[in-house]
Amino acid sequence: MTDPDPRSLVRRARQPESLSRPVVSAIHPSVVYRSTDADELDSQYEGRAFGYTYAREGHPNATLVGEKIDWLEGVRPEWGGGVVTGSGMGAISAILLGLLAKGDHIVAGDQLYGRSLRLLTQDLPRLGFSATLADPTDAKAVEAAIRPETRIILVEVVSNPTLRIADMEGIAELAQRRGVMLVVDNTFTTPRAYRPFEHGADVVVHSLTKLLAGHSDATLGYVAARDKARNRALYDAAVTWGMTPSPFDCWLAERGLNTFHLRFDRAQDNAAALAEALAGMRGVESVLYPGRADHPDHNRARAVLGGNFGNMVSFRLDGGRATTNAFLRAAEHIAFAPTLGDVGTTLSHPASSSHRGLTAEGRARLGITEGFIRASVGVEDIAQLTQEIAAAVAAARRA
Ligand SMILES: *Cc1c(COP(=O)(O)O)cnc(C)c1O
Repeated sequence: MTDPDPRSLVRRARQPESLSRPVVSAIHPSVVYRSTDADELDSQYEGRAFGYTYAREGHPNATLVGEKIDWLEGVRPEWGGGVVTGSGMGAISAILLGLLAKGDHIVAGDQLYGRSLRLLTQDLPRLGFSATLADPTDAKAVEAAIRPETRIILVEVVSNPTLRIADMEGIAELAQRRGVMLVVDNTFTTPRAYRPFEHGADVVVHSLTKLLAGHSDATLGYVAARDKARNRALYDAAVTWGMTPSPFDCWLAERGLNTFHLRFDRAQDNAAALAEALAGMRGVESVLYPGRADHPDHNRARAVLGGNFGNMVSFRLDGGRATTNAFLRAAEHIAFAPTLGDVGTTLSHPASSSHRGLTAEGRARLGITEGFIRASVGVEDIAQLTQEIAAAVAAARRA
């Protein structure tokens, strides 16, 4: 190749030569990849050589992140690999668009992520699919919802925001017995606490946006199946329907993953300590943390999560909306923001965000009061975090 005329700013320059190589992955924003000639392109399309062609079909930054999650989730090379998508919802959509056909029925947990519930109950019926919601802490209730046309059971291991633990063993057993695909949204638990493929899952899906990328600066999803043909179908759905992940977000997620284990362990230790401290605070009516003996699913959490109870803590302030507002304003250094898994602690108020679509009675049935707060605990100094929360709880009591 001859060098382009350096005066021609339009032509792309050659990359500078260097015998030593960068330590950090490059960001590849290139939408398209060039080939030498048509024969070279043939060799790629015919599978004799690998090469990227067009960013929607795949790019190096997505490959790098996807391979790391494959490794974390124990995806075997013979299954192909997982697919990185532009968001967690994109990954869930890829399952529905890639693995289901019109007329198929889905059984799903009744406390899934809010957008997943909306997709299942409001958007899918329009496309000729149907869904039934069932309580995943009760495998019998899940089984009762199965119909002859049921293809998928979709569950999250830990529910939001009451942190109930699904009967994963019972559900995996019945999915296998009834010949239904088990899909696990592992976003809350992460492969640090639970590896669904080791417990009978057929498909694992993630919002990388949360704990895995971990810094609230990248929006991405991931999905993988324990089957090569299904992974191919997931890939084709993601590419065709345009669920392309941004190279820059993938690069950020790859960097975030470098510290995932450290962040998870620290946030989990902090969550246990904060739950303990909250339980002793005047003005806190109750604390929900699966690691505590008074949690309704504590024994199951020990069995399913192997002692990794996670970074999410929910609690009920003794009071209504005014108490909650006073608490949130007083906790001025802790972001009141409807997400989870950030490196810093964030607080959310389900009654006014994730669960605002429910009636007051519907919320009451789930135990979501106006004083209900969900904390996604981060990695900050625990003494400081506890002190800030305690001060805010005290300020809310005085308000
Ligand atoms: C956030 C979240 C999603 C959706 O992920 P996005 O990246 O926001 O699209 C799905 N499932 C769970 C459990 C989540 O927390």
